[in-house]
Amino acid sequence: MLTSAQQVLNEVKAMPPTPLMPAFFIGHGSPINAIIDNQFTQDLAKSTRNLPSPNAIMVVSAHWLTKGTFISVNKFPKAIYDFGGFPNALYDIKYEPIGSPEYALQVKTLLDQSHNIQTSDMMGLDHGAWSILRHMYPKANMPVFQLSIDVTQPAKYHYDLMKQLAAFRKKGLMIVGSGNIVHNLGRVNWNNPTAGPYDWTFEFDAYVERNLQTGNHLALVDYLKAGQCANLSVPSNEHYLPMLYVLGIQEKNEQLKFIHHSFDMGSISMRSFLLQG
Ligand code: ZN
Repeated sequence: MLTSAQQVLNEVKAMPPTPLMPAFFIGHGSPINAIIDNQFTQDLAKSTRNLPSPNAIMVVSAHWLTKGTFISVNKFPKAIYDFGGFPNALYDIKYEPIGSPEYALQVKTLLDQSHNIQTSDMMGLDHGAWSILRHMYPKANMPVFQLSIDVTQPAKYHYDLMKQLAAFRKKGLMIVGSGNIVHNLGRVNWNNPTAGPYDWTFEFDAYVERNLQTGNHLALVDYLKAGQCANLSVPSNEHYLPMLYVLGIQEKNEQLKFIHHSFDMGSISMRSFLLQG
């Protein structure tokens, strides 16, 4: 008798093939980006033009943190307003594409071969997901579901987790990581938001850029080896880790293209990129 994992593998194999779906890492920055028109949001809007349409989008966001890894099987995820102190206009936004329990359960079964994944039917869409997708897919006509970040695991776990999913990218699954390469809210320059980056912001962002360009994933998993600039840029790693999920599914020789690069308030890097085979 076939195991359920084998059945799912067979089901996935039987799905009609699609072109290799691109994958994104987006530095999402402030929630306010959901409703403003700036270079970042314009670049997000441009980034999906001329790409093959996904059947479903799986987002790994810095704002769904759990003990154990969870996947959302909620058919109708509601937008979550997981922030405070912003203008009312931000709370009026309703970006609510349907979920995709079908894809989510297939992803779970594939990941369960090497990891233990739990399901959630209560999870909505956090702002790390909807504030960027609103610009990338404004019609909200693609099913979206989220995979959580297990805060108890080391960086390597997050990088390795996605390996099982590489082939699924040719079955219409788009993977989007949403966080920030440099994210130190304690050092945000509130008095002068347009001030340039701190030296350490610039240094760590450049370290990541260099290793992305050369495909040196090990140096990105072991990011603390960058020294003091890493400690300051990644004081807690929930915004950094989503990038490792995206690198985990990068194909050999797959092109990595930066779609946006800027710094916000001194201590946030908005660097964002696209993987496209
Ligand atoms: Zn965030």
